[in-house]
Amino acid sequence: MTRETLYRQLPSVEELLNRETAVRLAAQTSRAFVAAETARVLASIRAMISRGEDERAVVEAIDKIDQLLERQVVADLRPSLAPVINATGVIIHTNLGRALLSESAVRAVVAAARSYTNLEYDVAAGKRSRRDLHAARLLAELLGCEAATVVNNNAAAVFLILNTLAAGREVIVSRGELVEIGGSFRIPEIMRRSGALLREIGTTNKTKLSDYQSAISDNTALVLRVHPSNYRIIGFTERPALEELAALARRARVPLVEDLGSGLLTELSDCGVRDEPKARESLAAGADLVCFSGDKLLGGPQAGIIAGREELIRPIRSNPLMRVLRVDKLTYAALEATLISYKKGKEREEIPVINMIAARRDDIERRARKLARRLRPRLRAELELKLLAGFSVVGGGSCPEVQLPTMLLALADRQVSPNSLEEKLRLGEPPVIARVEKDQVLVDLRTVLPEQEPALVEAMARL
Ligand SMILES: *Cc1c(COP(=O)(O)O)cnc(C)c1O
Repeated sequence: MTRETLYRQLPSVEELLNRETAVRLAAQTSRAFVAAETARVLASIRAMISRGEDERAVVEAIDKIDQLLERQVVADLRPSLAPVINATGVIIHTNLGRALLSESAVRAVVAAARSYTNLEYDVAAGKRSRRDLHAARLLAELLGCEAATVVNNNAAAVFLILNTLAAGREVIVSRGELVEIGGSFRIPEIMRRSGALLREIGTTNKTKLSDYQSAISDNTALVLRVHPSNYRIIGFTERPALEELAALARRARVPLVEDLGSGLLTELSDCGVRDEPKARESLAAGADLVCFSGDKLLGGPQAGIIAGREELIRPIRSNPLMRVLRVDKLTYAALEATLISYKKGKEREEIPVINMIAARRDDIERRARKLARRLRPRLRAELELKLLAGFSVVGGGSCPEVQLPTMLLALADRQVSPNSLEEKLRLGEPPVIARVEKDQVLVDLRTVLPEQEPALVEAMARL
């Protein structure tokens, strides 16, 4: 067939729009939208013809044009953000959206989204109020401090603290704490942008109290301590205890601020989480302000929490940048519900991040055995499924040295490479994100929700 003949076989937009598929799609969306999608499908086939593609392929595309249209409409209406199954065993997986919200937090978000709220309104007084009162009382209570405020994330919290309390003046930081977190958050860079002047002291592995002492001058705005979340310097190291540093800062009348990163709020030492500082303890040890993320070990929404002395929080609240970095009602709703779980003492049961950290290998093994029993009869003969003892990690730059004992499902195929098995899981619907190690695909149920197990079984059975 000549190109001209092929072009002539193409239906018109009008013809296609009157066919059953397009009429049905238009009823679900709009005629204008389906018309535009139809024009795109026709243009793609015209492009095939003009490129001189194989005639059979072109004829097949023309035959299946209704299917092509439907597939394109579905793909075009799919949001880019979508749920995935996290089978990596990395609990606070930054690439996969960090903390999952608790059921009560999800319900609070939905309720706040559907309705007007008292976001900036004092119902009792019948007049305007401030949004940042929400969560403030709960935080102050849980952390044992005077005041607290919430911003977009912890990077914003660090930035706002520095900009408010230290612009144009010096901030003393140990060289061992000038960290980069998650690729784009570098303390020196944030400091420069905030207008504060970095005064580095000590060395990478050792900073003494006397280093702080001799750096403090009339131009010192604050002493900043940073929790080196995602790495550890081990061996010949030294840094002063927070109490000592606090005493020094107090004598010099310079505020001491600690960027905690994760801001642990509960006891997890029985799970192996030992050298992660607790926000409450830092404040009790004399930090004037602490800041931390809402969606790391706290297990809540993305947020940055600033807590400590009222006289330091007050100017932060009235910094015009607070308006730039403030959070919305959905964040307050999720955060307050999360904090209420802590207040009740129910964080292990209710908050997914804490629940996953506390899960024992025995519990995970029981789930893994059950899943394997259901899955085995559905696997191809070449696919081998085994249980394998291994470790999960906390992730999110928290507790890098903690290994949580787990029981993995290990998949190997005599013919297909583990990387292509992993890819197949990843490209499925929903995507399953697993890891490949030692020629096997490893699935860790610690980070898979029980209600996701049926979908996981289906995905693995499709292999
Ligand atoms: C994670 C982290 C941050 C950044 O927090 P975000 O909530 O991701 O903005 C800052 N400081 C430390 C020490 C961290 O661990």
